[in-house]
Amino acid sequence: MLTLDFYRDLPKKECRECGDEIIEQHESYLYECERCMSKHEE
Ligand SMILES: [Zn+2]
Repeated sequence: MLTLDFYRDLPKKECRECGDEIIEQHESYLYECERCMSKHEE
């Protein structure tokens, strides 16, 4: 479970659409969760 310790150091982001926590692989510019992101891909 070393990966969990790693992720804990990262600041948590919340989806600005639904408020869900955004799980990031590493540094990124995401501000929406995958679910809301997919909604925009129409
Ligand atoms: Zn969302």
